Amino acid sequence: MRQALYEAAQAASAGDVPVGAVVLGPDGAPLATGHNEREATGDPTAHAEVLALRRAAAVFGGWRLTGCTLVVTLEPCTMCAGALVQSRIRRVVYGARDEKAGAAGSLWDVLRDRRLNHRPEVVHGVLEDACAAQLTAFFRER
Ligand SMILES: [Zn+2]
Repeated sequence: MRQALYEAAQAASAGDVPVGAVVLGPDGAPLATGHNEREATGDPTAHAEVLALRRAAAVFGGWRLTGCTLVVTLEPCTMCAGALVQSRIRRVVYGARDEKAGAAGSLWDVLRDRRLNHRPEVVHGVLEDACAAQLTAFFRER
């Protein structure tokens, strides 16, 4: 999560909302990272999780990230939760909750929807205060 927080800070320095993500391989070693690049690239899908998943798949050798874990500073949105289900990732770890748009337990729970054929394990609240503080500081500056 500390690496994800570092990634998130990179987003903020480019004017993007500070969200950072890291994908860990089955052995726990980092495969890829990503941070929000919507402002930097003008791409509405350039969320930290999507970028990290794409890079991890390129390194891992395929779209199925079996046994992998994604760590992200903010609760995934519906798009990212959908991408995480599609990637067949084993575990999703997030820091701060997103009461307005979260799709991993707050507003929706796409990741644990029993109607879907793949449901990753979800761990939340890891370094929650630090993750939330980074977002609060960003929006206070604006
Ligand atoms: Zn997202």
